Parts: sequence; C-alpha cells; structure tokens
Amino acid sequence: NTSVDEAAQQFAINLTDTPLPADEREALKAEPKFGTVFSDHMARMSWNNTDGWNNRRIEKYGPLSLAPAAAVFHYGQEVFEGLKAYRHADGSVWTFRPEENAKRYIRSARRLALPELSVDDFIGSIAALVRTDIEWVPTGEEAALYLRPFMIATEAFLGVRPAYEVEHLVISSPVGPYFSGGVHPVNIWISQEYARASRGGTGEAKCGGNYAASLLPQIAAAKDGFDQVCFLDGQADPAIEELGGMNVFFVKANGDVVTPALSGSILRGVTRSSILQLIEDRGIKVSEEHITLASLRAMLESGEIAEAFACGTAAVITPIGRLADNDFDITINGGEPGKFTMDIREELTDIQNGRRPDRHNWLTRL
Ligand code: PMP
Repeated sequence: NTSVDEAAQQFAINLTDTPLPADEREALKAEPKFGTVFSDHMARMSWNNTDGWNNRRIEKYGPLSLAPAAAVFHYGQEVFEGLKAYRHADGSVWTFRPEENAKRYIRSARRLALPELSVDDFIGSIAALVRTDIEWVPTGEEAALYLRPFMIATEAFLGVRPAYEVEHLVISSPVGPYFSGGVHPVNIWISQEYARASRGGTGEAKCGGNYAASLLPQIAAAKDGFDQVCFLDGQADPAIEELGGMNVFFVKANGDVVTPALSGSILRGVTRSSILQLIEDRGIKVSEEHITLASLRAMLESGEIAEAFACGTAAVITPIGRLADNDFDITINGGEPGKFTMDIREELTDIQNGRRPDRHNWLTRL
C-alpha cells in the first residue's frame, strides 16, 4: 500500500534503548486490561503557527515535558481519536476505516480551533507507530492494539485564544476482549438531570471536556446499579442522543432498525456508520431519526422495540438489557442479548478480523 508506506516513511524512527523484555511484553499482551499498558514507542508531530506541522518522529513512550502554563491545562484545547489495529490469522496487521477517524479528527480540531492534521499524516503516524511496535499487536479472539491519537495545545500562554504551539501524538495499548466471559447486556440510565452536549456546543467533537462532563452523571448512575448513562439533547421534549462513549440503536419487533440522527451534538461513530451500512446491505429498513424520550418510552412499553444495543470501537456492539429514567424502568428482550444484535456484532468483528470478505474496502494494511 504505497500511500500508507509513503506517509509512514515521513517519520524519523528513534528507537528506545530500553524496550520491555519480550517475555514481559508477551505476559502483558496475554492478559491486557484496557488502557493500562502502553507499547514501547509513540508517534509525535509538532506544529507552530509559522512552520505548520513538522518534526514527524517515533520516539520512546514516556512522560511529556510541558510548561505548567501550557494552554491545554487551562482551557482544555484538546481532541483525540480511538481506533484499533487487528492481527489477522496470517499474522498481517490491519486497521478499520482509519480515514474516517482522520476526517473526524479534522472536524474535531476545527471545532476546538486546533490545526488540522492531514489524513496522510494521521494514517502515517499510526502506521509508523504500529510498524515500530508490531510485536505489541496481540493475537486472539477480539484482542487488538488500541490506538489513541491526541492533539494538545502546548503553548505556554494564559491568554484565551487558539495556541500557537501544538503537539499531535499517538500512543497504543494492547487490549483483550471487552467482555471477559462472553458478551453480556448492560443497564442504561437515561439522564434528565445532566447533559454532555448541547446545540452549538462540542458534542460532535471528540474533545476531552465532553468526557469530563460525563463523569459525574456516570458516577451517580453507577451508584444506582447502572452500567452507563444515555444522554438527551437538553431541549424541551428531549430526544435520545448517545451514551458517554457509544452510539445507540433500537431494533423493532417488525425488523426495522432506528438510531438517533446526527444532530450536531452526537459523535459520528465509525462503528455506527458501519452498522448502518451492514444493515442496509441486508435489505433491512434502517433510519436515522429524531427519537424523543417520550416516543422511545411509548415504543418500549408497547413492545414495539425488541432489541437495543450500543456501539463503539472499544466494545464493538454491546446489547442493552434494561433502560430506565426517573419515570420508567424497562427490561429489553428479557435482559438477554438479542439475536439480531449478536448477528450484526459477529459480522462486524469477522470483517475487522479478516474472517469475512471486506466487501466495502474498510480495512487498511499497516
Ligand atoms: N459516542 C461517543 C461519545 C464516543 O466517545 C464514541 C467512541 N469514539 C462513540 C460514540 C463511538 O464512536 P466509534 O464507533 O467511532 O468508536
């Protein structure tokens, strides 16, 4: 793949003198806990307002040295991405629709007044890192190397304006199956008290502040025994948006599927858009709609909704077994994973892991 090769070759490779010994690395890969262990290296690029993006490099994974006045610490000028590298049965390593993450990174950066990173540099930084740390890509069912690109405002300046110095980095972390002991449904609390995003806000951008805003409601819901929070759009007659880190779908008893339409405050999930395509491919009616909480409740109570699931890169597809808010509490599909949900999940993970034909050309070899 020449364009990936060319983009990756822009990066100078500065190898660490102290890689983790192979036996320790293999032990960590065998039982990875999400986001706790990182590969030996990171990709890095610098930007300033006179030179633009420069100094493409791979270097040792390690602490950053930043001025305490760096803008990111004060005004949260930061965006990030999340995607995975998958090892196929023949040993080759692939990513899934990285140009979609690259485009989302550009849109997020624009919203946070950060410089745009080209699709080539986004994919080049990922490819250079994964090629350097290829031994860190795990094998095994639903194991992958999770990739975390992020961009931070590093300029030491306390004025409130877009920073003149910025860094783009990519770190990576081996991850195992999201569910140990098989996929199981989650219970979701619909929050009428807290919103994570609003009209004109940053909900569609993948920026750290959105996640900070989701933590308190998440803690409150967890206290009541719920796994995650579903957020509304904060309008009168509120509509369903998404979870703190996943989009949502509802499967109707008549077979049709619906998901909240992109409102400007919902993240444009890559998993969401892939699932929309896979459902369409099956000839099933799938629509993106404004789903008010009131209409969702009515559909749940009438039995019109047969299955519900959440989706995102980390867990792929997670069945929803129960949905509740201040006024209702409903078990879906007897609290069991739905058949359609699990079927789509298998199709998508099969494509990602090279077990089914990649008919939409979603995979990029690294
Ligand atoms: N919504 C939010 C708020 C998220 O953080 C994520 C994870 N990136 C998603 C949805 C799912 O997006 P994707 O399928 O691209 O991982």
